[in-house]
Order: sequence, then structure tokens, then C-alpha cells
Amino acid sequence: MTRSKDQLIKDRARLMGPNVATFYDDPVHFVKGDGVWLWDADGRKYLDCYNNVPHVGHCNPRVVEAIHRQASTLNIHTRYLHDGILDYIERLTATMHQSLNSAIVTCTGSEANDIALRMVEALTGKRGIIATDATYHGNTSLVSQLSQSNVPTVGFGLEQYFRFVDAPDSYRAYDSDGTIFANNVAQQIAEHEKSGTGFAALLICPYFLNEGFPDSPDGWLKPVANVVRKAGGLLICDEVQSGFGRVGTHMWAHEKMGVTPDIVTLGKPMANGHPVGGVVTNNDIIARFREGYRYFNTFGGNPVSCAAAMAVLEEMDAENLMDNAKTVGAHARARLSKLKEKHEIIGDIRGSGLVFGAEMVLDRKTKTPASAQTDKIINAMRHRGVILSKLGRHKNTLKIRPPMPFSIDNADILFDTLDDVLSTAL
Ligand code: PMP
Repeated sequence: MTRSKDQLIKDRARLMGPNVATFYDDPVHFVKGDGVWLWDADGRKYLDCYNNVPHVGHCNPRVVEAIHRQASTLNIHTRYLHDGILDYIERLTATMHQSLNSAIVTCTGSEANDIALRMVEALTGKRGIIATDATYHGNTSLVSQLSQSNVPTVGFGLEQYFRFVDAPDSYRAYDSDGTIFANNVAQQIAEHEKSGTGFAALLICPYFLNEGFPDSPDGWLKPVANVVRKAGGLLICDEVQSGFGRVGTHMWAHEKMGVTPDIVTLGKPMANGHPVGGVVTNNDIIARFREGYRYFNTFGGNPVSCAAAMAVLEEMDAENLMDNAKTVGAHARARLSKLKEKHEIIGDIRGSGLVFGAEMVLDRKTKTPASAQTDKIINAMRHRGVILSKLGRHKNTLKIRPPMPFSIDNADILFDTLDDVLSTAL
């Protein structure tokens, strides 16, 4: 059945529930993707500056071929022996510090974070978790407690295990070397201990992507990692958004931030849109987790998923996509700087590699968030054929994280369009 746009909107409410979110005032109906491009049902072409899941490009031929090849041969779960998952884990862990040498392959980032929390409980015997107050780590009963931005109105009474610290904000409250953040975490560790819950782990995105990716110098997480370890806790880095070369300078944002986590969680770009997530840690931690919990995931780590995930790593190497992120990211920052000189509404520009954006303000002195204008900008960009979004505590930061083959020419289309929108649409 091919529905009109109005019918699609009505049928979504009828069949999926009335409050399922869509992007934009005028939702888009995509029917095709290729590389960094998307097409809607009317045949209109859009530049995708937003979607980080199709990491190596929409419908990437290497990934499509790998899925097709494996799906036509065998798909089975991990209780049978198979090379695919082992080859993948070997190749994945070779990109990380040697202490991160084993993995569990899941289907989503939420599952990966859920496992990580249960791992730290199995290891420390404690349940106190700390996160930032403007993050998102997923949707399970346990993990959804971490998302202050999506506070559940019903739940399983797990709130007492979670404490929050102010998300870093390099524009409004610059913390040059991460010591303020570390001190805030130390305070919450003390609160966990005082309450009798005890402190188990700090869970953060090492590039604080959902928080608005503050511009912090490399090595910024070292002080907080010391505080966590001194207290006997573990550091979990959620690389669901920040990983796989996205930041351009390093394969993993935790490397950029100067730390080796005890546990790394993965998702989104891992298999280019095929549902794959993962937890990487050392063999001892996995062993303790498996002693504590009988864990099995029917779909996690199946041969088709592993073939797709392997193809992503192969494509990244073959096309030097991390270097591309670095080069195009530097160009993007230069163009954003120029736009900032021209447009008063741009208060701050930030980013590394192929995650970058600009914070919109009503007044550069007071830094009052221009949230309504940011909304207008992204809607105007969509009508001009450029897909991006917004994020951060005030929803006033443009969120730009295109597929990794994004080129300098693509970036020029993006910034020429943004220049036009800022000049004419506000
Ligand atoms: N962690 C982070 C940092 C995320 O941004 C998300 C999803 N937006 C998740 C975890 C959850 O991943 P999933 O939707 O695959 O469960």
C-alpha cells in the first residue's frame, strides 16, 4: 500500500499510538537513500547532515552485500559455534586498548548499557550509578532512569540508585581541565555512600554528545577517571554516538579524552542500520557478569549482524573514513567560524570530526538561548533540502552528524544553505 503523507500521519496515530514523535513541523517521508543523500516520496533529494546510524553511507554496497551473502548462507544464534562473531570481536577489540579484549554483542545501545550496569553491580556488589543531568543512555527500565531529559512518569522504583551531576557546558560554565566536573562527581559518590547504596560506576558519553558536545581539551576526563577509581568504582563510556571514528582524531572519543574505560558500550553506527550494539570490556568482568546473570540474547551476535558490523569496519579502513571526518570536520569548523562572524545569532561553535554544531543565542552577552529560532532554522533547512536537528539542555544547538563519507562539497552545500536561512528565514 502506498499512503499519502496525510494518511501516513493518521495511520501512525491509529496503529502506533497517538504520541509517536516525528521530526519537523512538516514530517518527511523518505523512500530511498544512497551515501549521504535521501529522497522523499515526491522524488526530492535531501542532503543528510544528521544521521549517524548509516555510518558508512545509506545503503552502502559493501554492507548490503555482506548482509545478503550471510543471510543467504546461514543465520543462527550464539549457542552454536560460528567464526563470524569471533572474527568481528577480534577486529573490533584490536582498535581499543589491550585491556578491552572481550565483548558481548547485543541488538541495541540500550541493552548494552543495561548489561554494563549489571556488570558493575556484579563486580562491586553496589548499585550507585552517576550520570549527567542532560543525557540519554537508552530505554530499558534500568537505563531509562539515567535520562533526565526523558524522565519516565511511571517506573519500577529504581530512582534511588541514580544520581546526577551538571553536564559540562564549555560555553556557559567553562571547566578548563575537568576538575570541576570531577569534584561534582566526587560529591555524588559521597552521597551514594552516605545513603547506603554505595558507588558502583560513572556512566558518560566521553564526548557528551547528547549534552551538546562541549568544547573540552583532549585529556579532559582524566581527573574524573581518577576520582572514580579512587572510590573503587568503574568508568563506563557510552560510545554509542561518539565512537567509530566520528570525532575524526581518534577511533574512540574516550581516547581523545585521555582515559581507558573499564567498559565501553556501542550501538547506532556499528552495523550501518542493522540492529547491532555491544559491550566491550575485559575477560574477567565478562566472566563475573556471566556468573551473576544467566545472559543470552537470541538475536545478539547472529552471523548476519556480525557480517554487517564487520563490513562497516572494512569500509571505514578501505575509504579512510576517520581521516575524512578529520579533514571535513576542520573545514566545517572554519566555515562555522565565518558564519559566526556574520550572524549574531551564533553564540558558539563546537565539534570535532563529523560531529559539529552551533549554539544559537538571542544575545551574545547574556547568552539567552534562541530555542524557538533554532527550531525555525532546522525546519527552514529541511524545506531547502538539508536534514539536521537540534540538541542540548536548551535545544538551541544545531546537531550535525552526517554519514562519514560526507565531503567538503557536501559541507559547502550545508553551510551555503545555512547562511541563506540565517540571512532570510528568521
Ligand atoms: N546511548 C546513547 C548515547 C544514545 O544516544 C542512545 C540512543 N540515542 C542510546 C544509548 C540507546 O541506543 P538504542 O536506541 O540503540 O537503544
